[in-house]
Amino acid sequence: MFLYNTLSRKNEEFKPLKEGEAGVYACGPTVYHYAHIGNMRTYISEDFLRRTLEYLGYRVKHVMNITDVGHLTSDADEGDDKMELSSIREGKSAYEIADFYTKAFFRHFDSLNCLRPSISCKATDHIKEMIEMVLKLESRGYTYRASDGIYYDTSKFADYGALVGKAHIEGLKAGARVEMSREKRNPSDFSLWKFSPADAKRQMEWDSPWGKGFPGWHIECSAMSMKYLGETFDIHCGGVDHIPVHHTNEIAQAEGATGKKFVNYWVHMEFLVLKDSAKMSKSANNFLTLDSITEKGYSPLVYRYFCSQAHYRKQLEFSFEAIESASRGLKNLKASAMAVKEKAGGIKKENPNSAYLAAFKEAISDDLNIPKASSILWETLKDSAVEAPEKLWLAEEFEKVLGFGIFNEEKQEIPQEVLSLSNERAAAKKNRDFKKADELREKIKALGWLIEDTPAGPKLKKS
Ligand code: AMP
Ligand code: ZN
Repeated sequence: MFLYNTLSRKNEEFKPLKEGEAGVYACGPTVYHYAHIGNMRTYISEDFLRRTLEYLGYRVKHVMNITDVGHLTSDADEGDDKMELSSIREGKSAYEIADFYTKAFFRHFDSLNCLRPSISCKATDHIKEMIEMVLKLESRGYTYRASDGIYYDTSKFADYGALVGKAHIEGLKAGARVEMSREKRNPSDFSLWKFSPADAKRQMEWDSPWGKGFPGWHIECSAMSMKYLGETFDIHCGGVDHIPVHHTNEIAQAEGATGKKFVNYWVHMEFLVLKDSAKMSKSANNFLTLDSITEKGYSPLVYRYFCSQAHYRKQLEFSFEAIESASRGLKNLKASAMAVKEKAGGIKKENPNSAYLAAFKEAISDDLNIPKASSILWETLKDSAVEAPEKLWLAEEFEKVLGFGIFNEEKQEIPQEVLSLSNERAAAKKNRDFKKADELREKIKALGWLIEDTPAGPKLKKS
C-alpha cells in the first residue's frame, strides 16, 4: 500500500514497524462545542484509512485523543482555554461541557459508520504522563521558564519545522518582530505547561513541579500517542491545519524527549470548505453540524457518500445542492445493491480472482483512492457479465472499506396517521368490506405511502 507522507512529500510504500500490524494515531476533537462537518470529513477520511489497512490484512491499533483541556483560542498560545470559555457561555462546569460534547461527537461519529478507535483517551486523564514528558524535556535542556508558563525553545531542536518546511519557519521569524509575545525567545516557541492565573481560579488545573496550572495543547498528543503506540509508531493523521503548528510541535516534543524518530508516516486530510470558500470554524461560529444535514431529511451516510467522492488530499466544497445529488447517487447505488441481493436469492459466490476485486484493492492501496474504489463498486453492480451471487459477494467486500450502508434496511418512520388508516383498512378487509378497504388504500396513497399485502400482513412503503 502507498501513502502520501507529508514528511517526505512523497508517495511511499507503507512498511509497518511490526509485520502485519499498524499503529495509527488520529488527533481527536476539542470537545468545547459540536464537531462541524469539516471535522467530520477528516474523521471519515481517517475511517477509510483504518478500514483500508484492515482490509489489506493489518491488525490496526487506532488511538484517538479527546482534547478536554489546554486548547487555547489561538494556536499561538494566546487567549483563553476553549473549555473554560464554553463553560461560561453555557453555565455548566468545564467537565460537564466536555462530557456533553464528547457524547455528541460519538453520536455523529457512529452514525457516519466510522469505526470506534481501539483506544480513545482524554487529555485530563493523562496529566501525569504529560508532566513526565515536560520533565524529560527540561532535563535535556529544551525548556525555559516565562512568567506565564514553561516554554519549548524551538531553536534547540535542530530539525524543527521539517514537516512544514524550513522556509515556513524562516518566514515566521521574519514576520514575528512585531507580533511576538515579549518573553518568547523564538516566534515558534510554544507552551508546555501554563500557570494558572494568580487572580482567578481555573476549573481545570493541576499541581506540577512548576506550580499549579494546566498543560499546553500539543503535549497531550505526544504523551498519549507514545503511551499507547510506543516511542516510534507507524502513522499519525489529522487535518492539514495541523501541519505547521500542532504536528510540528508534537515532533519537537517527542523527538526532543526520546532522541528517536517519532512517526514514520504523516497523513494529512484536506479541508471541507464552504461554497464561498469561507473557512469553517467552530470558534468563529461559522459552521454546520451533521444535524444541519439530517434535519433536512438526509441520512448521515449521505454525507459519508458525499465525502467519498473526493480524494482526501483535495479540498471539497460543501453545498446542499451537492448533498442532494449525493443523496440521489446513494439511493441509486442502494437500489442496485438491493436488486442484486434479491436476484442472488441469498447465495453468495466468492471469487478471489475477480478483476473487479483486484482493481478495488489497487485503488485503495494507491494512497486511498476512495472515489475510484466507489466507482468500481458501481461498475461491478452494473456489469451484466457478472452473475448476481458473485456481485453480491464483491459488493459486500467493498462495503467493508466504503461503509456506505448499501445493504442496510431503510428505517422509515411511518406517520401515525398512515398507521391508523392501515389498521382501519385491515379491519375493513377482515369484515370483507372491500370497497372501504380500497378507499382507505387511496387515502394512504394520497399521503405518499403504498400498501402491499404480503402473507405476513400489510407492508407500508414510501411511494
Ligand atoms: P478540532 O476539534 O478543532 O481539534 O479538529 C478536529 C479535526 O478536524 C482535526 O484533525 C482538524 O485538523 C480537522 N479539521 C478542522 N477543520 C476542518 C475542516 N474545515 N475540514 C476538514 N477537517 C477539519
Ligand atoms: Zn493532536
